[in-house]
Amino acid sequence: MSNLDRQATPTVCGGRGFVVAEPVRELLSPRRVPLGESTEVRRLLPNLGRRMVGAWAFVDHYGPDDIAGEPGMQVPPHPHMGLQTVSWLHDGEVLHRDSLGSLQTVRPRELGLMTSGSAISHSEESPREHARLLHGAQLWVALPDTHRHIEPHFQHHADLPAVTGSGLTATVILGELDGALSPGTTYSPLLGADLTLTAGAKAGLPLDPDFEYAVLAMSGEAEVDGVPVLPGSMLYLGCGRSELPLRAETDAGLMLLGGEPFEEEIVMWWNFIGRSHEEIEEARRAWTAGSRFGEVKGYDGPALRAPDLPPVTLKPRGRVR
Ligand code: MN
Repeated sequence: MSNLDRQATPTVCGGRGFVVAEPVRELLSPRRVPLGESTEVRRLLPNLGRRMVGAWAFVDHYGPDDIAGEPGMQVPPHPHMGLQTVSWLHDGEVLHRDSLGSLQTVRPRELGLMTSGSAISHSEESPREHARLLHGAQLWVALPDTHRHIEPHFQHHADLPAVTGSGLTATVILGELDGALSPGTTYSPLLGADLTLTAGAKAGLPLDPDFEYAVLAMSGEAEVDGVPVLPGSMLYLGCGRSELPLRAETDAGLMLLGGEPFEEEIVMWWNFIGRSHEEIEEARRAWTAGSRFGEVKGYDGPALRAPDLPPVTLKPRGRVR
């Protein structure tokens, strides 16, 4: 998916200054953002109080929406730079097309992982024939400086490893959890896992004390480290934890996100992650001129136009809140 915000505001993120070294329980509220004409998403990252969790730099939660007889998700071709996009569904399906020629339907609990490297473009849409419900999350992982200029590629993994416990199934989307390793390619130490809890479940998951973590609540009534989390909210957990206690009143669905604190400061604007204002400006110019980002074939409609870049020079800097 994409940042379709017409008033896209630049954000400077990353760096140690943001990271909480100890375990904390910070409940983050979403910002409601329109996506296209009919859909609204809940944006959890970047958030007013929190910009990144490890290398995770962007988290949108959407649905469940009843899209019977409606077009559903329609995100026209748009560019990306300096990041990986993760498409994760609980209900419905998304048809992905990109400038490499990929054409892939992503279904619930399958990983759609697009690595932009320095330039890619893609579109995402509900297929013409689609399920009634659409429910999922769209996430971005910032690429470290060592790998942000690599060639773009797209991966689809339908069969992901899982860890099971009492009333808990943890599907490993990216990284490694309790010995189970996702086949998705990562470029910094991080974890993404889907947690399905059954009503009455009381379980724990092993964590890496060096990682920073957060949990996105997607459905049901669950408690994370004793804090009730409602769907569409995110609980930031800080670092220094070796275990995550989980409980569920009802069947519940969560996403666990974590990673080594992202030390590099990044500049994020619209669908780009860079290191300087000039780089973002250059990417915007290239997309507007129709160069560098390739072409998405087969999407029925025009590509997205980049919003105007605000007349402020973006500089990565130290502690910014
Ligand atoms: Mn996108």
